[in-house]
Amino acid sequence: MSIDVSRLRAETPGCDKQLHFNNAGASLPPNPVLETVIAHLRREAEIGGYEAAAEANDGLEHFYSAAAQLVGGKPEEIAFIENATRAWDMAFYSIDWQPGDQILTAQAEYASNYIAYLHVARRHGVEVITVPNDAGGQISIDALESLITDRTKLIAITHIPTNGGLVNPAAAVGKAAKAHGVLFLLDACQAVGQIPIDVDVIGCDMLSATGRKYLRGPRGTGFLWARNSLIETLDPPMLDLHAAQWTGPDSFEVRPDAKRFENWESFIAGRLGLATAIDYALDLGMEAIRDRIYTVASRLRSGLSELSGVTVRDLGREQCGIVTFTAEGHAPAEIKETLAAQKINVSASRRSSTLLDMTERQLDAVVRASVHYYNTENEVDQLIEAVKGL
Ligand SMILES: *Cc1c(COP(=O)(O)O)cnc(C)c1O
Repeated sequence: MSIDVSRLRAETPGCDKQLHFNNAGASLPPNPVLETVIAHLRREAEIGGYEAAAEANDGLEHFYSAAAQLVGGKPEEIAFIENATRAWDMAFYSIDWQPGDQILTAQAEYASNYIAYLHVARRHGVEVITVPNDAGGQISIDALESLITDRTKLIAITHIPTNGGLVNPAAAVGKAAKAHGVLFLLDACQAVGQIPIDVDVIGCDMLSATGRKYLRGPRGTGFLWARNSLIETLDPPMLDLHAAQWTGPDSFEVRPDAKRFENWESFIAGRLGLATAIDYALDLGMEAIRDRIYTVASRLRSGLSELSGVTVRDLGREQCGIVTFTAEGHAPAEIKETLAAQKINVSASRRSSTLLDMTERQLDAVVRASVHYYNTENEVDQLIEAVKGL
C-alpha cells in the first residue's frame, strides 16, 4: 500500500498553514486524533471526568491492544505514561542497581538518558561505558561485543537519535544482548510511528515511545513496553494505589502487569487520542509510512547537499526522516528564525541534547528539518530554496 498524500493532508488542518518540518519535535495531528481528544474533553465537562472515563472504557482498553500491536507486544506489556522520558525512567530506575554494575550505551545517546546513567552512577557506584561508533557513524557491534563483561547489567541505546538521520542497528544490539543474557532498554522515541518496530525482531526487553512525534498523537502522552517475563523482576521507583494494592496495614502487592509503571491519574483524553493516532498509523501501514518518509527525506538531503556552504550532518548507513545540516556563516538558531519568518518550521538541535556525539563531531548545534509522510516534494523544494536564499 502506498501513502495517499493529498488525502492525508486534507485530514490534517495544520498542513496548509505552514511548511512543517519539525516532526521530530511534534508532528501535526490528523483530524481523527484532534476530534477524539476534543470530544472527550467535552464529555468530561458535560457529565464529569470519572463518568466520562467509564463511558470511554472500551476506547481506553483499546489503547493497550493498539500500542501492543504497533510494537509487536502484548496488551499487558504496555503502560500509558505521560511522555517517553518518564516511560524510559520507569524502566531504568526499576532495575536493581548494585555497585560495580556496568551500563553500556552509544555515542548518540539522549541527554535525559545519559543524565540518568550518571545519576545512578553517583548513587550506586554504577559504571557507564560508551560504545564507540563504527566507520559509518552507528554503534559498533564489534566494540559492543568486546565491551560486554559479567558486570554488564544493561545495554541501553537510542534507536533514532534526536539530532540526525542515523538509525542505530537495534536488532544487532539485541542479538548481542541476548547472546550474553544482558537486559536491553531501547529508547524508540523517534522510531515508533516512523519505522516498523517489532520487539521480538529487535530483541529488546523494554522500549519507550512518545505520542506527539512521528505518531501524530497529542502532547503529554507516551508509553512503555516491557517484556512479560521480566515485569515482575522490575521494581518501580515509585508506586501508587493503581500500580499496587494496599492489602493490609503492613502489606501491599504490586500489579503483575506493566500497569505497575503507570500513575492512577492521567490524561484520559490523551490516551484515547493516542489510541486513535496508533490506529491511524496501523491503518496506513508502518512499511508504507517509513518508505514515504525516507523518500521525502532523501530528496531533502540531496537538495541540501548540492547547496554551496551547506553541509548535511546525518550519520549512519540507514538514514531516516530527520535531516540535519549546518550552513556557513549562519548559526542554526538564526536559520530557524529566518525560516520561521517564511512560515517554515524547523528546529535547532543543540550540543547539550546529545553532548557526546556533538562534541565528537565538533558541532555546537545543527538545523533539524524532520520530514513526515505528509510533507510534499514541493514543500521540500521550497525549503531547499529558502536555505539557498540565506
Ligand atoms: C524527544 C526524545 C525523547 C524525549 O521524549 P519526551 O516524550 O519528550 O519525553 C527521548 N529520546 C529521544 C531520542 C528523543 O528524541
